[in-house]
Amino acid sequence: MAGRFGILALDMARIHDTSKSTLALRKRKRFLLSQLQVHPDALRASLVERFSRCGKANCQCHHGGDKHGPFYYLTQCLAVGKINKFLLKSPVQQQSARHAIEHYRQLQEQLEELSQINAQLLRREENLGHD
Ligand SMILES: [Zn+2]
Repeated sequence: MAGRFGILALDMARIHDTSKSTLALRKRKRFLLSQLQVHPDALRASLVERFSRCGKANCQCHHGGDKHGPFYYLTQCLAVGKINKFLLKSPVQQQSARHAIEHYRQLQEQLEELSQINAQLLRREENLGHD
């Protein structure tokens, strides 16, 4: 359940301060555009940690002992009810996934701020293109 909540939380936008002067917003916009970078590994997904019971009936995990794990799964919500999910077997894979997800998240955050600035400029009847 914690993993599910995590995915929902990631899908929400952070609200940026767009109450600044038009000049300040344009300056911030120029800065954001100069920082925008698409990392080749960018990946929209979540990493989910799981502990589970094995198939052996006599194992301690079935008799009050610790479950096995942690196991790390990459999950990707593709559509409502359609989730792409697979086990990341090695620590190398897990680390790659962490970096890739973080790179996507950074890009998404930068685009979101740019988008909110553009909405504010449009509301002020300003030009959205190059100034
Ligand atoms: Zn077991």
